[in-house]
Amino acid sequence: MNRKSDILVVGSGLAGMTAALTAAASGKSVTLLCYGAGSLSISSDCIDVLGYFGGERTKEPFTVMERLPEEHPYRKIGTQAVKTALEWFEKFCAGAGLDLHKPAEGEGNHELITVMGTTKPSWLCPDSHDAACIRDAKHIAVFTVENMKDVHPRLIIDQLKHYPFLADKDFQGFTLPCPIKDARRNITPLDIARYVDKPDGLRWLHENLEAFAGKFDVFLLPPICGMELAQNVWKKLSTELNVRIVEMISIPPAVSGLRLYDVLRKSLNQKGVYLAENVQILSADVEQGKCRALYSEEGQRWEADEFVIATGGLLSGGISTEPGKAWESIFHIPLNVPADIEAWSSPDIFGSSLFARMGVSVGGDLRPLDEGGAILLKNVRFAGRVLGGYDFALEKSGHGVALATGWLAGTLAGKE
Ligand SMILES: Cc1cc2nc3c(=O)[nH]c(=O)nc-3n(C[C@H](O)[C@H](O)[C@H](O)COP(=O)(O)OP(=O)(O)OC[C@H]3O[C@@H](n4cnc5c(N)ncnc54)[C@H](O)[C@@H]3O)c2cc1C
Repeated sequence: MNRKSDILVVGSGLAGMTAALTAAASGKSVTLLCYGAGSLSISSDCIDVLGYFGGERTKEPFTVMERLPEEHPYRKIGTQAVKTALEWFEKFCAGAGLDLHKPAEGEGNHELITVMGTTKPSWLCPDSHDAACIRDAKHIAVFTVENMKDVHPRLIIDQLKHYPFLADKDFQGFTLPCPIKDARRNITPLDIARYVDKPDGLRWLHENLEAFAGKFDVFLLPPICGMELAQNVWKKLSTELNVRIVEMISIPPAVSGLRLYDVLRKSLNQKGVYLAENVQILSADVEQGKCRALYSEEGQRWEADEFVIATGGLLSGGISTEPGKAWESIFHIPLNVPADIEAWSSPDIFGSSLFARMGVSVGGDLRPLDEGGAILLKNVRFAGRVLGGYDFALEKSGHGVALATGWLAGTLAGKE
């Protein structure tokens, strides 16, 4: 069976969903294909733009962007494109009921707190994750829920106390009773967040936190203030209990990443994007430097005039490897990696990793280039983690690159 659309996007991570949304704004027909949810289900709704540069925390990402290596995706598309994409995204999220804010002028990256008791910098985040208030707080309550796995106040507090600016704070840990009695398994923040979307759940959270109101300056909670209703619940509780509530960033399943995923998905439906899930693209029909169609598992042919490939890195399947060789998985574009497998490992476990940096080399319009710099495919653009030249984990730029390149790829595909 053949399916035809004007623009075909592969991948439903942040890059692919953003590309599909911006492409659909052109009025052309857009199809989005994927076989997995992408890394929003394991990450957060906070957009890291450039948290670290040269091993140091950045205050304001844009001041150092021009000094990144030439092969970095931000350098390829230019700082202005990154800024425009972020502005578009802030407006889009506000319109969709998910308020993400950049830091106030001169403030620098937001400070977030994770359930592992670490802090991390991020550029756009909802107010519920912004932990700036912790700096002025004296008494801080850290909560978990009975039977909740991966959220342990003692561990969080011990770890946070290692930060000099938190060392003298009065932290106290508390366990709220589990409201899901028949779970017969450990629960996660996602279970509670879904429960809190219901009136009973909201009542449960309010009643259990009320006992601590007036005794602490800040409540550190796992991300349990609801899914669809999270921002309303967070505001309501903060106002009624008169306390600053900070939702920590959880490890997977990623509550706040799924909040953003839901918002993006709903918007794609509203914009008429045809979403085909559980479809794995295996190969491409390329003729004279132009892609005619992609083929999925069952031999189905997906035709389009323009293509955006946002298939992620090694974990998501966008990149394939074998010892001494790496390639982009659909078009089999060879990636520039050392043939000597010894050179693939790094002696520094927290240092830069070749596995994180390997990816497709593109020009400023995100079309793939060969080693000599010539365009390989005239109507195909790459976006997000499938791109090479940056290490999202080391520099904290994951969603930033996905968003900026997804926005540009979709916008340019819509103009062709
Ligand atoms: C644990 C963890 C936490 C993170 N937390 C943050 C954070 O808080 N903030 C931040 O800014 N960044 C974070 N990141 C980084 C960030 O998640 C990624 O860098 C970024 O979201 C990548 O998005 P993407 O759309 O390029 O790829 P992905 O999200 O990986 O999406 C790839 C998509 O392509 C699909 N796909 C792949 N191959 C095919 C195929 N052949 N056919 C069809 N579909 C295919 C996949 O199923 C998937 O839907 C985190 C990363 C990890 C691993």
